[in-house]
Amino acid sequence: MRIDVVSIFPEYLAPLDVSLVGKARAKGLLDVRLHQLRDQAHDVHRTVDDTPYGGGPGMVMKPEPWAAALEEVAPLDGESVPRLIVPTPSGRPFTQELAVELAAEPWLVFAPARYEGIDRRVIEDAATRMRVDEVSIGDYVLAGGEVAVLVMVEAVARLLPGVLGNAESVRDDSFAPGAMANLLEGPVYTKPAEWRGREVPPVLLSGNHGAIARWRRDQALARTAENRPDLLERLTAGEADKKDRAT
Ligand code: SAM
Repeated sequence: MRIDVVSIFPEYLAPLDVSLVGKARAKGLLDVRLHQLRDQAHDVHRTVDDTPYGGGPGMVMKPEPWAAALEEVAPLDGESVPRLIVPTPSGRPFTQELAVELAAEPWLVFAPARYEGIDRRVIEDAATRMRVDEVSIGDYVLAGGEVAVLVMVEAVARLLPGVLGNAESVRDDSFAPGAMANLLEGPVYTKPAEWRGREVPPVLLSGNHGAIARWRRDQALARTAENRPDLLERLTAGEADKKDRAT
């Protein structure tokens, strides 16, 4: 998969060199290219923002540098067209389902903004030639979209074939499509079996795979009920039963 990120702070994306994503890049599974938006601003101050029409506080990112940057990354006469992801608190929520969808794309371009965001016409113009998703990573406001890009790239990268040592592990994750779609994963334990007087639940030491699966399902339901009752409400009684049988 190829990923391009255009930003006025490409150095903010340095963690993409580290750990799982860094290894995926080293293995050639992920081709990440960072671009400095200011390279497309040609005045002496390399200005990328201006005051908002209609007044109000803050600045808005100018259309010309963004259009030039996006066209340099994905030329208008290019053979393939990427999917453009614009992080914004006013976008659709980023979910595991969307991560799975994006992981199937060959090429993603991210356009993280600063200030009050990007002039709307850039998004409308890009949408005439490529799929554009405005995506929010949560109901809060960050200073800029770079952290949102890190979140999305990491969630997508771990789904790419060959990136995780054990591909099975994503199947049991919270939100994983299938049996876990509307469930949170329950607690996990490792050695020693007793630590500071606290014992690992005996069922996990039993070797009884059916009992372990049932225990994990029950824990997932309990944790979801406690922390995310909104997810449980999405399960019909029939679906809850199906999950029961699936484990
Ligand atoms: N005025 C904007 C609003 O209220 O929707 C907030 C702009 S924010 C200060 C600057 C940039 O940070 C946004 O354009 C976006 O790129 C990024 N950003 C902030 N919060 C985000 C979130 N929850 N999800 C994704 N991107 C976010």
